[in-house]
Amino acid sequence: MENSGSSIKNKVLEVLSELPRNVEVVAAAKTRTPFEIMEAVNAGIRIIGENYVQEAEKAFQLIGEKARWHFIGHLQKNKVKKAVAIFDMIETVDSLDLAKVIDNAAGALGKKIDILIEINSGREEQKSGVLPENACALIEELTAFKNIKVRGLMTMGPLSTVPEDYRPYFRATRGVFDQIREKYIDGVEMRFLSMGMSDSYKVAIEEGANLVRLGTKIFGKRK
Ligand SMILES: *Cc1c(COP(=O)(O)O)cnc(C)c1O
Repeated sequence: MENSGSSIKNKVLEVLSELPRNVEVVAAAKTRTPFEIMEAVNAGIRIIGENYVQEAEKAFQLIGEKARWHFIGHLQKNKVKKAVAIFDMIETVDSLDLAKVIDNAAGALGKKIDILIEINSGREEQKSGVLPENACALIEELTAFKNIKVRGLMTMGPLSTVPEDYRPYFRATRGVFDQIREKYIDGVEMRFLSMGMSDSYKVAIEEGANLVRLGTKIFGKRK
């Protein structure tokens, strides 16, 4: 028996009560069942983050429009069509190529889709994301696509168990965010800064995040 203090519902209520008003939670749902995700939604979660299109499709069948859907994983081009059908926002766009495929797929569905640009803030070779200094040029190129709308930035930062380790990467990403926002690029709305996970969201919020992606904090440890 799980005690009520650690139920998904109670964890959601606890985290929602402690966050500043301007910060929204993306419930990072990888490996969770549709029923677990539904429990989080019933407790007040409004945005679900999914890393895998196939998992998202299953959860979407149960939850549908009761929540908003953000894609937070690495998006393969052959999954874009399905992704565009489900997701309200794709947080991990990092190339013109991928954006073009998303734009085409959205156009075919008569849909406009919000995107964030993923920043490789740790300059890690194996990681996705665009380098900080290349973000602005990419965003300017993306204004040519009519079915996608840039609404901000997302970053992961190099994995660590020490929350403070994330701070310089979050701060650098915030710097890029501000720089781009101050350019007032036509059709670009720099509104969302998605940074921070269960271990690091407090630091992320201090550094300006207004979307935090929480998995473990809401659902418990992944098996
Ligand atoms: C899994 C995941 C998270 C959440 O991680 P936790 O440490 O469980 O909170 C956040 N963002 C992305 C991109 C993820 O894949």
